[in-house]
Amino acid sequence: MSFSSDVKKQLCAIKERKECCRMALLYGMLLTAKHEHDGVKFISSSEEAAALCVSLTEKSPARAATVPYATGFETYISEEIYLVLPLISEKLDLTPIVCERCRNSFFRGLFIACGSVTAPEKGYHLELAATGARTEGIASFAAENGFNFREVVRGAERSLYIKDSEEIEDFLAFIGAAKASLDFMNAKISKEVRNDINRITNFETANIDKAATAAAAQLEAIRALVNSGEIDTLPQELRETAKVRVENPEMSLGELRKLFDPPISKSGLHHRLRKVTERAGIV
Ligand SMILES: [Zn+2]
Repeated sequence: MSFSSDVKKQLCAIKERKECCRMALLYGMLLTAKHEHDGVKFISSSEEAAALCVSLTEKSPARAATVPYATGFETYISEEIYLVLPLISEKLDLTPIVCERCRNSFFRGLFIACGSVTAPEKGYHLELAATGARTEGIASFAAENGFNFREVVRGAERSLYIKDSEEIEDFLAFIGAAKASLDFMNAKISKEVRNDINRITNFETANIDKAATAAAAQLEAIRALVNSGEIDTLPQELRETAKVRVENPEMSLGELRKLFDPPISKSGLHHRLRKVTERAGIV
């Protein structure tokens, strides 16, 4: 099951008790439904959504019935639905939004009917598809509730989307998909942790590269000093340092310093190696 269908299944299971909120939910669900000559046809791939549509119609003067077809379910709602919901109006009519909670129900219905959301580990995209002539109305009502949807036009279809992960989390929570909202938050956190780990690894790799470059320069300097015979003119401590370095070309300063008896400090070793490279004219 896709992440979207899973979210919709959760949303369909929410029980609205107040009649105003139930009508607001049905309004959201039917807003993008098709108008037939004798009523409205709600099409969904989800059996739960079809059943919800029928149950929400029960207290209205309209009658509803679901017919399964190849890839989903068609629910027919008789024309009396027009008496209780402003489904004909070209503009978004907010009459069915009565109480505060009706807002949540309305957007939940809309999402059940035409919404989709990518699984959080795949990216951040939530869309309300084919919102038609009421696109502006829906966008501005969403904005009133704190969600800044953008419009995208694909062929003849107008749709609305949000891409900001926090806004998606908030929207999912707003319509009642608390678990999906948490999934988003968690996916984002693990992504951030992964990025941090990558950053640290890159930083360490860069440091190792730097150390290897420095070691290569030291070895080149020592080779030059040996070839010119100048190595014998160096103070004893620098000769010893050169010898230890040549014998352990791969070691970090931290490891190398312990080979001295007594061990010397890292900065002391660094200082000696710098003197060696300076003597060879390689810095
Ligand atoms: Zn209400």
